[in-house]
Amino acid sequence: MENYKKIIDGKKYSEELLKQLIPLSSKFFKNFNRKPCLAVVLVGDNTASGIYVKNKVNIAEKNGIESIKIILSSEVSEQDLLNEIFKLNENQDIDGILVQLPLPKHISEKKIIHNIDPMKDVDGFHPINFGKLFMGDPNFIPCTPMGCFYMLKNELKDLNGKNAVIIGRSNIVGKPMASLLLSSNCSVTVTHSKTKNLQEHCKKADVLISAVGIPEMIDETYIKKDAIVIDVGINRLQLLNSKTNTSITKLVGDINFEKVVNIVKKITPVPGGVGPMTIACLMHNTIKAAYKNKKQNFVNILGDYF
Ligand code: NAD
Repeated sequence: MENYKKIIDGKKYSEELLKQLIPLSSKFFKNFNRKPCLAVVLVGDNTASGIYVKNKVNIAEKNGIESIKIILSSEVSEQDLLNEIFKLNENQDIDGILVQLPLPKHISEKKIIHNIDPMKDVDGFHPINFGKLFMGDPNFIPCTPMGCFYMLKNELKDLNGKNAVIIGRSNIVGKPMASLLLSSNCSVTVTHSKTKNLQEHCKKADVLISAVGIPEMIDETYIKKDAIVIDVGINRLQLLNSKTNTSITKLVGDINFEKVVNIVKKITPVPGGVGPMTIACLMHNTIKAAYKNKKQNFVNILGDYF
């Protein structure tokens, strides 16, 4: 098979999802005379976080969602940040709240996340939403694993009995991903930095999801023939352009694409794979939150589980 046919095009998936969401945001506007509204809180001047927030705000605005950006200094106290969250929780015109992580070291991410109203927690990180997901009754699903799961369901149709291996056990990606795959009857293995013989586990994967953050650590020796591979990793490499003698930034995933592409059945690229779907799922969750805020039935275009 030619290699380009093996690519799971996250950009295309996200455009299709966003297109389906527009009638829902328009209907909301017609009924309530305002757009669904997402508040994004950014603390400090982390470059990557700044780029993520800018992308989220741009996509929201292009898709009938109002966004409010709250930018706070890296020196803001935990209490002042909490006070901002309380104000957003109380504001009836705010449907979704997203606090861009990571936060500066003097602020407890746990404390901040626990104080977001679970009904506005469009990232799905609040313990109530996390617990509901693990009990098979999700409210808001964390956006990155949600996007991965949606693409997998579309690519594979039937996930029953597949061996799924996840590399990485974070609350943001690895753990919720495991819950989603279990809900579709996969046999799930979650691996991490202390896992022994990582290659042996990965070699058994019909579905391999990597969320580590180490550039191109997974090569052909980890991959089962015809596996479906989802690369969540986003790693920035600084390279030297020998012609201009300037430094350039290249984005790569956890997977060494060139080395595995001949073995896999399908694979997400970096960039253009998981990233765009994460943002589209955030838009989905914001519109869902808006309907719930107004006690309206949200017809879930992605299927009942989302
Ligand atoms: P994290 O640092 O919280 O977790 C990394 C996980 O990798 C840990 O569970 C750790 O045990 C595991 N790990 C580390 N070294 C390992 C090794 N040698 N072998 C096996 N496992 C190892 O990171 P995270 O927040 O889950 O993010 C992971 C990656 O995904 C990062 O590159 C991040 O930028 C990216 N990410 C992308 C998106 C997106 O939208 N595309 C969203 C979230 C995270």
